[in-house]
Amino acid sequence: MEPETEKTSVQDDLLYTITNIQRFATHDGPGIRTVVFFKGCPLHCPWCANPETWRAEPELFHDDSLCMGCGRCVTACPKGAVAVIGGKARVNRTLCDGCGSCVTACLNKAMEVTGNRMTIPEILAEIRKDDEYYQASGGGITLSGGEVFAQDPVPLLRALKDAGYHTAIETEGAYDLEKLAAALPWIDLVYHDVKHCDPHKLKKFTGADAEEITRHLRYLKDSDVRTIIRIPVIPGFNLEDLDNIRGYVKDLGFSEMQLLPFHPMGKGKWHKLDRRYPYEQTPMMDKTQLDAWREAGTEIGGH
Ligand code: SF4
Ligand code: SF4
Repeated sequence: MEPETEKTSVQDDLLYTITNIQRFATHDGPGIRTVVFFKGCPLHCPWCANPETWRAEPELFHDDSLCMGCGRCVTACPKGAVAVIGGKARVNRTLCDGCGSCVTACLNKAMEVTGNRMTIPEILAEIRKDDEYYQASGGGITLSGGEVFAQDPVPLLRALKDAGYHTAIETEGAYDLEKLAAALPWIDLVYHDVKHCDPHKLKKFTGADAEEITRHLRYLKDSDVRTIIRIPVIPGFNLEDLDNIRGYVKDLGFSEMQLLPFHPMGKGKWHKLDRRYPYEQTPMMDKTQLDAWREAGTEIGGH
C-alpha cells in the first residue's frame, strides 16, 4: 500500500447499499483483503451463495429456528407486513420495506435487516481498521456483490485509490460497458465470471446475455488491467462443459482462470428470505473431481 494522500474530495453524502464488509479475506485478490459486498444484481443464478444481494433495497432475514411466535414483531411493524401463522412469524415481502422496527422488537434475534446504507467515509472507516495487515501482506480492497456495477462504484474506487489501496472487483458480467470503462482507471485487478459459453444455457439458468458478456471481456482484454476469469462449477449446468468453456476463454486471449466448485453454503440465506433453494439436495462438490484441472495448472478456488 502506498502512503495515504488526499488527491480528490470524497463524496460524503453518496450512499451505497452494502450487505457485508468482510475482513481478513484471502481468496479474492493478493494478500489480506477486506471485501465490500454491494447489494443489487440483474442476474438470478439458482446456485447463488449471496441471494440477499439480488434486490437493490434493504430487506429482511427471518430465522424460523429462532422465532418463538410471540408476535412482538406484528405489533411493531408499521406496514402490517408480519403475521404469526402456525406459531411462527410470516413476512409479507410485498409490504415489507426493510425498516427494521421488528428487528428492535424481537427479543430472540429472529429478524435482521440485510443491506446497510453507508457513506464512503463510513466504508473507509471500516476498511482502515486493517491497514497494517494490507501493508504487511500486499493486500487491499475487493468490491463484490451482487453486481458491483448495479451501483456506481467509481466514487468509492477513486477514494480507495486516493488512499493508496490496491483495488479489485468481482463482476458477473451483466452491466453497462460505459460503467466498466469509467471504473477501470481505478481498478488493479478484475475477477470476471464466465458461467457458460452456450448462450441458451446461460440465458436459461442465469438470465445473462452471452453476447454482452463477450463484448465486455473483449474490452477488458484490450485494456491493460489484469483479469482473472472465474468459473463457478455447477453440476448439471456446466460441469460437463468445462472443456468448451476453457476453449472460449482461451480464444478471447485470457490465460488466468480459476474454477470455483459448487457449495451449498448460501442455503440458509435462501431460507431466511423465504425463497426455495433449488440445490437443496445437492451436496458440496468434491474438489477431487477437478484434480485433472488442478494438475494441468488451473487454480481451484472456493471452499
Ligand atoms: S418478535 Fe421475534 S420471536 Fe416474536 S414472533 Fe416476531 S420474529 Fe418471532
Ligand atoms: S422490516 Fe419493517 S416493514 Fe419489514 S416486517 Fe420488519 S417492521 Fe415490518
